[in-house]
Order: sequence, then structure tokens, then C-alpha cells
Amino acid sequence: MDKQTDIKRLSQAGLEDAMRDLEQPAWRVSSLVRWLYQRGVTSFAEMTDLPSAVRDALTERYTLSSPVVVGRQASADGTRKYLVRFADGVTVETVGLPSGGRLTVCFSTQAGCAMGCAFCATGQGGLVRNLSCGEMADQVAVVAKDFGERVTNAVAMGQGEPFANYDAVLAALRFMNAKDGLGIGARHITVSTCGVLSGIRRFAKEPEQFTLAVSLHSAVQPTRDRLMPGVHGYRLRDLRDALADYAESTGRRPTLEYALVAGVNDSPKELNALVEWCTGLPCHVNLIPVNPVDGTGVERPDDEASLRFRHVLMRSGIESSIRVERGVDIDAACGQLRQRS
Ligand code: SF4
Repeated sequence: MDKQTDIKRLSQAGLEDAMRDLEQPAWRVSSLVRWLYQRGVTSFAEMTDLPSAVRDALTERYTLSSPVVVGRQASADGTRKYLVRFADGVTVETVGLPSGGRLTVCFSTQAGCAMGCAFCATGQGGLVRNLSCGEMADQVAVVAKDFGERVTNAVAMGQGEPFANYDAVLAALRFMNAKDGLGIGARHITVSTCGVLSGIRRFAKEPEQFTLAVSLHSAVQPTRDRLMPGVHGYRLRDLRDALADYAESTGRRPTLEYALVAGVNDSPKELNALVEWCTGLPCHVNLIPVNPVDGTGVERPDDEASLRFRHVLMRSGIESSIRVERGVDIDAACGQLRQRS
């Protein structure tokens, strides 16, 4: 047994195997999950309802890592942004957004990101590594602890492409959803992908009612390829097919994220293409006037562009909304906190 294995790398099934190896009954796994993710203990010795021989054996076999908050910014609107450091020194950012009795956490699924989206600071720096399931669930726990409240919603919309780290992401979502874990309803847990088709097709088959958001950003292939070079190999028609199948098999409507970038995807031609692409597809379009990010050259369109897009989409029978900006005064665009540290 490798002493260096961090127990927070293990999925629910991995924890079950670990306890089986120790000849422990299955119900003790719930207890272990509770200590790890609900109570956030930092040592096995604190798991007082486990027999001392089990605690000793776990200490012998596994490490138990805990993240450290090394940066914290609070916005005037209540949003808090954290820079979280893991055991190997790698950092990611996590955001807590309180609103109307809800507390939403935007967590990262990878340190850095290989997708290279044109409007994203994280994408400019490349991928550092995948996060483990525990490193994702711990980001949610960090925010819950700082706010002193239960987290009601979680979105995999921080750094990284979730479906490039599929197994660990699913394991993390399950710890977030578990009643012994963070207790967040499955419908309140969202994965946001650039549109990795294999991931969308796999996600459609998961038994939980997790929700799906897809970064579309343009329904014109060359524009989308330019904005999102990491998925330039995927054709828009194939993405639409995958989403139609997802909606049909799950009965759930994916959200399409559309970051409006001045002079790039805010023209009438782009709007027409978007309407055509969405027509007949059960979906909700979330329009996001992009925040300018140093070094990316992208510019925010005027407010009129978002209103025009929303008006035309609604008139065409396509549900849409304009994302309310949060945390603008603390650099809410992804990647900025990490870059400035
Ligand atoms: S927007 Fe998301 S997927 Fe794109 S580069 Fe940034 S972190 Fe990666």
C-alpha cells in the first residue's frame, strides 16, 4: 500500500474498497465520508466514532490532505473569491456567491486549463494538473465554512474543463450530493463544459439529475473555433445532436452560455446563426457580457447588444437571460486572481 495515497483521491467506491480491506462494515463508509467532507477533519485521529484500530490503519495507509486558503477577496455585493492551495503547492480559485437565501459555489476542476478560450486568463496559462475529487469537494467546504452557511448550489464553472477530468469530477459531484457529504441537491449541481461530446453523452447516462451547461459562445463555426480553440475539432452540428439527445434522454434542458465579445460574436449575423441553431432545441441561453481580461484583447460590448440578443431570442421562442454580474470589483473573470498572486 502506497503511504502517499491521499484518501481524498478516492471516490465513494474507492472508500468502500478501503473499508472492505480493513474488514469494516459498509455503514462505516458513511461515517468516513461525513468526517472527510462534512466535518472537514485534518487527521484520522479525529474520527472518533471509528474504532481506534481503524483510525490507526487509515493513518498507516493514507495521507489526509486539507486545502489552505491563501487569498481571499470580498466584493461589495457579497461575492467572495478564494485562492485555495493544495498539498503540492498548486493553487486554484473558488468563488462563493450569496443571493436571495442561496449560496452558490463556483469551483475549479483543474489547475489551469488546456482549452485556451480567447477571453479567459486561465486559458492563457495552460494546464497544470487535474484536481482530485476531494480537492473539488473541499473547495465547496471551504466556502461553506467561511460563510458559516450550508452551500445550496455548486457549479463546475471555475478553472478547467470538467469533462477532461470526468471520473474525478463525477466522484466529486457525488460527495457534494451525498447526504453524508455536502448535501447539495443533484439538480442544484451544474457542470459547465466547452462541449466535449464524449463527456456530454456520458453525462446523459448518469443516474443523478445533475444539470448541464455548455459554453457555446458562437453558432458560427469559424468564430467558435477562434474563441474556443480547445474544441475546434468538434462540429457545431454534432454538438447540437449531442445536446438534443441529452435533452431527450434526461428530460432536462441544457443551458447554453454565450459570452458576448464586442466585434466578435455580437453581430446580427451571429445572432441569426444563434437563433437558427437553437430553434427546436430545448435549451436556455445565458448571455454574459464578457469582462475585459488583461492580455486577451477582448472587449465588452455595450449593454444594447445583450438586450438586442435577448429580445430576438425571446421573440423566436428561445428562453434566455442576461447574467447579472457579480464580483466585478474583485476581478470575477476566471483566472485573474491566480494570475495576480
Ligand atoms: S473559459 Fe473555462 S474552459 Fe475556457 S480556457 Fe477558461 S477555464 Fe478553460
